[in-house]
Amino acid sequence: MSARLIDGAAIAKQVRAEVAEQVSAWMADGGPRPGLATVLVGDDPASAVYVGGKQKACQEAGIEGFDHRLPADAEQEQVEQLLLELNSDERVSGILLQLPTPRHIDGSALTTSIRPDKDVDGLTPASAGLLAKGAAGLRPCTPAGVMELLRRHDVELSGAEAVVIGRSELVGRPLAALLLQQDATVTVCHSRTRDLPEVVGRADVVIAAVGRPRMVPGSWIKPGATVIDVGINRTEDGLVGDVEFDSVKERAGLLTPVPGGVGPMTIAMLLGNTLAAARMQHAATAQHA
Ligand code: NDP
Repeated sequence: MSARLIDGAAIAKQVRAEVAEQVSAWMADGGPRPGLATVLVGDDPASAVYVGGKQKACQEAGIEGFDHRLPADAEQEQVEQLLLELNSDERVSGILLQLPTPRHIDGSALTTSIRPDKDVDGLTPASAGLLAKGAAGLRPCTPAGVMELLRRHDVELSGAEAVVIGRSELVGRPLAALLLQQDATVTVCHSRTRDLPEVVGRADVVIAAVGRPRMVPGSWIKPGATVIDVGINRTEDGLVGDVEFDSVKERAGLLTPVPGGVGPMTIAMLLGNTLAAARMQHAATAQHA
């Protein structure tokens, strides 16, 4: 058996086009143009590429982009001050602090300064709390992108055994909560998990978010399972995921490639979150008027 591949690039393109349509319909109805402020501290080339990609995607979707760049030696207070200004700027619906920040800056603490209804990265404690409670809120973009891929491929989650490998705040934990919300039976694995192959072998849906090149071989996978590879690892052979693509492809029913799987979904979901944030803020303003 050879798995069907999930074309994340095509789905991301579709989501982006849908968001662009929703933005123009929203504005035609009198809604204010959504705006996304990105904040980049320092000159890490990879981060600069990510931020550039986000800004370009905003333009294409009709979202106004505010591109803030601070020098690598910026002080914590300076970044915090900027975030507070963006919190009260009505043109800004969403704020994204690009992580990781330079070492002398506590990016995690700064994230908490972002107003929860502008937290388009879904990483503030308030957003994490809403997710844990199963309440409405802005969800982290990569996990939301994974869920969108599953949804658009009609992967049955209710009652399914889902195994998430990785428990980071950014990916593993929120994914587990999102899968639980869809009534999957969720197991979260991490570096202390005993007998990972046995646990993974039970799964109808496997999500690998570890950051270790080709760690999951095909022999671990239940035949026909859906395998989502979140990993992005730079190796001598180029970008590879956390699963061993060739052997997993022979066992899985559905599989995301790396690159071209989960990766492109992150920006698409960020655009969706920015529009959702604009709607929330508009509704709240109307309520108080
Ligand atoms: P982290 O390093 O924050 O977390 C990795 C997790 O994997 C930890 O929970 C760790 O366990 C677990 N782990 C490490 N080794 C093992 C092991 N041998 N067996 C089982 N579990 C293990 O990574 P992130 O969650 O931030 O990212 C994971 C991957 O996803 C990376 O490759 C990253 O590049 C990629 N990524 C891709 C994105 C995208 O597509 N847009 C966005 C974000 C990330 P423990 O907690 O015990 O240490």
